[in-house]
Amino acid sequence: MKNQIVCKFGGSSVANAGQIHKVKEIVSQNNARRYVVVSAPGKDASDPEKVTDHLLNIATGGRHFRSRQKDIRPQQSHKAVLGKFKGIIDDLNVEGADIIKQLESDLKKNLPEKKRSDYLASRGERYNAEIICRYLNRQGIPSELVLPEDMGFVVSEDFSNARVMPASYRNIRKKLGSIEGVAVIPGFYGITRKGDVAVFSRGGSDLTGGEIAFAMDASVYENWTDTDGIYQVDPRLIPEARVIPRLTYKEIRLLSSKGFEVFHYDAMVNCKKKSIPIQIRNTNNPSSEGTLIVSERVPEEVVVGIARNDNVAYLYIERDGAGEDIGFVNDLIEVVRNYDIETYHYPTDKDDVAILLNQDDLVGCENDIKETIETQFKPDRFEFHYNITILSPVGIGMKDHPGVIADAATALKEQNINIDIINQGPAQISFHFGFQNYYADSALRAMYERLLKK
Ligand code: ASP
Repeated sequence: MKNQIVCKFGGSSVANAGQIHKVKEIVSQNNARRYVVVSAPGKDASDPEKVTDHLLNIATGGRHFRSRQKDIRPQQSHKAVLGKFKGIIDDLNVEGADIIKQLESDLKKNLPEKKRSDYLASRGERYNAEIICRYLNRQGIPSELVLPEDMGFVVSEDFSNARVMPASYRNIRKKLGSIEGVAVIPGFYGITRKGDVAVFSRGGSDLTGGEIAFAMDASVYENWTDTDGIYQVDPRLIPEARVIPRLTYKEIRLLSSKGFEVFHYDAMVNCKKKSIPIQIRNTNNPSSEGTLIVSERVPEEVVVGIARNDNVAYLYIERDGAGEDIGFVNDLIEVVRNYDIETYHYPTDKDDVAILLNQDDLVGCENDIKETIETQFKPDRFEFHYNITILSPVGIGMKDHPGVIADAATALKEQNINIDIINQGPAQISFHFGFQNYYADSALRAMYERLLKK
């Protein structure tokens, strides 16, 4: 395998000229960094909103920010986007009048609503990549701008949630394989067979990076962001928490599903297939090694991290034989899913079943669900329990190590914390304790001290 690195720089890493200068330094330090995928400019001191959000606000006539209770009109977003790019161009001292002109004309482009929204949303990545490419060249790093449309990065027509089509990989390999210097590639979007721009779900530049790494058989996929890596627990809650040096795909998956939102999961799927390691690194602290995500590792510790989810409720249903009745749980989940509610765990016993779900998703449909369940299942008892926190310790070392659950339970007992729900993942590398939200901080602290602190 050739030593070629895909590096993806997220919004905060390319938010302004100062940050882009750091990107240049990082790229120049290792000539294996051949494929540079960039996001649109993210938030910084000059603007608390991301360029992508401004673009979506323009596309939706102001609805985008209004739905978040923010009073930013489309005209203001228009000004903010142009101002942002002009500022970056001036501060980097690159040619850019043509870019601004093209961007202005793109923002006026007439398209059907859905297509227009994706087209506009993609413009942040599109032009940031061009500016960064010009800057790298100016700084003596030979670079070429490669747009998704230039390399046949074909995606489905699911606007705002596009999927990569398999033909893309061969096209990408062909195009990028012919490039001598550094290829600078805008993340977040691809092109449909009909030639329309379609974007991935939010945060989708991670996905572009993962797909390029897969297509090019990269030796590593570096994901440059603004934290030192993945922490054992949320460092805002436990300030002394450390960065986890190595994690398996399976562990990050378990950690990221419950409150560790560091990386777009879809971006990992293909890297995992080819065992391409993913390294999460900090643009603002490049000397830190970050977190390396790999297929296998020797477990040096039993638990690597604890995920926390404070937004859980559960539905409890009791009826004679419910848990033994084949299909009962399935039918129950189907009712909940019909309301687009995310579900997590399904603890079951002979006569009762609980379904843990996303509490926010329940808003506005509790009564309808209740009515449907009363009619369809005729339960002896049915209720919702709210304001539950789930703490989930994760670690592949747990499987062959007796007493981890006992340690965690003891830590909670010592704090007088009553556990409402217990569930062990069948792979035996995670387990989940649920209790009332008001216990969450002290429970996390107690479990951290017992399971993670060295
Ligand atoms: N710019 C896009 C977003 O804000 C995609 C990305 O940065 O990954 O969601």
